[in-house]
Amino acid sequence: MNIEAYKELLEECNAKKVVLVAVSKTKPVEDILALYNLGQRDFGENYVQELVEKERLLPKDIRWHFIGHLQSNKVKNIISFVHMVHGVDSFKLLGEINKQAQKVNVVAKCLLQIHIAQEETKFGLDEKELKDILNEVAPDKNGITIKNVNIAGLMGMASFTDNMVQVRKEFGYLKSLQMKFATKQLPLSILSMGMTADYNIAIEEGSNMIRVGSLIFGERKPK
Ligand SMILES: *Cc1c(COP(=O)(O)O)cnc(C)c1O
Repeated sequence: MNIEAYKELLEECNAKKVVLVAVSKTKPVEDILALYNLGQRDFGENYVQELVEKERLLPKDIRWHFIGHLQSNKVKNIISFVHMVHGVDSFKLLGEINKQAQKVNVVAKCLLQIHIAQEETKFGLDEKELKDILNEVAPDKNGITIKNVNIAGLMGMASFTDNMVQVRKEFGYLKSLQMKFATKQLPLSILSMGMTADYNIAIEEGSNMIRVGSLIFGERKPK
């Protein structure tokens, strides 16, 4: 772990009013607890099973961010305690989150994941799909009511490349979508973008929530 790097990053985030989500996937609970004891509360995890185990072992006031690709059949395992689901990329998943959230009487904070990278492999909605989902959940619409979901904003991952001009362009595009689709009723105020390699650019382009793992916890072993 690199506590100095963490402290520096936190200071920068506080100064710029950016929420720092410490991405602890594959890292032991001891590391999470060490950061917790420094005051960190927002942690990000990618795998349902791992998150469930860690949640059981760690303090209850941790705000867990699920940042991986959530399968519909696993929603029920985390919905009662998760603070925010970042990677929602279909209306079907949104419906399942709503259903499970209703069962345990919570309102689930969700971010819609937008496909901004050039790679085919990354998950996410395109602009048209985003528009369709927002239309479906519009508060003044009859029909489908998604009362137990709060769409708090957008999330995206830039291309995995050294070309920072490209990365900046992708983050800028995500910011432009936020501005384009935000309404009074649905302000989409959270913009979750930026990781270890590109959080600087993300913040410059308007991110207010970064998800940083390896800079804080060190390199991960490949799964
Ligand atoms: C792993 C992961 C991160 C953190 O990546 P680092 O490069 O270690 O900072 C951020 N966001 C998502 C969606 C991830 O899967």
